[in-house]
Amino acid sequence: MSITFNLKANFRLSGAVPKECESELGALLEDANRNLLRKGAPQGQKGAEIVDWRLDEDRLYLEIHSGRYVRAHDALLRLRKPLSGTLGKKYHIGIRGIEVLDFEISSETEHELTNPRIPFVRSITYEDGTVTLDLEVDGSDLENRVPDRIMNLLEEKVEQSTYGGKGEHWELMWESPHREYRFREDPSKTLEGLGWIRRGSSRGQWIYGPEMTRVLRAFVSIVERDLLNKLGYNEMIFPKLVTWDVWKRSGHAKGVYPEIYFVCPPKTRDPDFWEEVIDHYKVTNEIPLELLKEKIDYPIGGMCYAQCPPFWVFVQGETIADDCMPVKVFDRSGTSHRYESGGLHGMERVDEFHRIEVLWMGTPEQMVEHSKELQECYKHIFNDVLELEWRQAWVTPWFMAQEGMTGLDERKTVGTIDYEALLPYNESWLEFQNLSVNGDKYPRGFNVKLQSGEDLWSGCSGIGLERWASAFFAQHGPNPDDWPNGVLELVGELPRDVFKFL
Ligand code: ATP
Ligand code: ZN
Ligand code: MG
Repeated sequence: MSITFNLKANFRLSGAVPKECESELGALLEDANRNLLRKGAPQGQKGAEIVDWRLDEDRLYLEIHSGRYVRAHDALLRLRKPLSGTLGKKYHIGIRGIEVLDFEISSETEHELTNPRIPFVRSITYEDGTVTLDLEVDGSDLENRVPDRIMNLLEEKVEQSTYGGKGEHWELMWESPHREYRFREDPSKTLEGLGWIRRGSSRGQWIYGPEMTRVLRAFVSIVERDLLNKLGYNEMIFPKLVTWDVWKRSGHAKGVYPEIYFVCPPKTRDPDFWEEVIDHYKVTNEIPLELLKEKIDYPIGGMCYAQCPPFWVFVQGETIADDCMPVKVFDRSGTSHRYESGGLHGMERVDEFHRIEVLWMGTPEQMVEHSKELQECYKHIFNDVLELEWRQAWVTPWFMAQEGMTGLDERKTVGTIDYEALLPYNESWLEFQNLSVNGDKYPRGFNVKLQSGEDLWSGCSGIGLERWASAFFAQHGPNPDDWPNGVLELVGELPRDVFKFL
């Protein structure tokens, strides 16, 4: 994708530059065009170019054009040192600052961008397959690399507008034989009818009764016996309130907002501060939400979304001994929460769910090897214990697909496997868990290193108990007589009549 930068800016000087200095400046800028502003651009690629300049009292005006190498704003910053050398030594003139008069970034695009609002962008225009952003930035924004991030964002948005509809690349890796089904009901409805699950008071939230809980716990025992214990995993307890700092490092801050439950602390715990709210409730029996909104602080983050990011704070900034590798830990200490909007359905897609998160780290070879071991364990569990009809697919998000990361050949490296089960009642496939090798994404984000200096990689796998249950009950039905022995064994005698409603 071609990108161009056009920058018009002034260096603000401490005084007017004498006429006799002009030719000296001209020579400096010409030389910069040939050398300084090309340095670092790859062979055969152009750097930045000063296309116009003039002196105007205490201002040095420059117009700089560039592509993606030695970007116009970098060129401007590079010029500061040689200019202050020349102006300072002989004429005792200093550079006081930078004034950005006009700064445009353009890129080719086939479609208009989905969101017409970008921070630091005054306007967006389209012409002949080119989109141009008119930037509203000052000198300190240039030094803080804001234009580079706007360029990345622009490229992302252009790709999104081109490939956005496709979501992800999906490639079948393995598929179990087809089975015959007698039970073809929506399992959530059936279980609700039996009173095994009842809706909680929050959206997308269920309360699991004693029978259902027994089954969910049996699932956990299967994972413990046939995967966690077998592969030498250690249990940990990860936090469930996740702060912005964690999501900045894990990358979730780039997009998680529409799906998180935000967490806000009170502005103070002083009871006097809250008295009005309390009294209002006592008098009206209503919670005064408007008033309450004024008394809570900005969100400090949100409730657990993906389970592993807050784990990384445990090892953040550390160098870990080689003989700890591979590290294998898991968490099953609490709920995950996602605002799922319209997609809510029964137990399959809920706002509050229970998940075992399996996390491993080590050298790239160890990670790829271990991913295979996990895949073998899962295969055994789904084929021989849960007896499911399921399949395993290699999925690549569209942005990675663009970088040529699709294809089974690259399975050795970074990416995600989705596990999907057939739901006979509507003949769709439901993702019931996944397994990802994340490369060095988390160790890099949280600054974790390996003693040997070798690359440190990690992976994780999220086992969603509601999704397992949806797949299991959809295929086997609610009657224990129809369940596979491997599950029955662990469930034992189901609790009966703990509640009788009149
Ligand atoms: P989907 O495409 O179904 O929304 P996802 O890609 O958002 O799933 P991941 O972010 O990969 O899911 O989460 C990992 C696992 O967490 C899923 O495989 C699933 O088991 C579980 N999970 C995610 N969202 C939900 C949900 N809303 N309800 C129940 N389980 C969920
Ligand atoms: Zn994870
Ligand atoms: Mg989702």
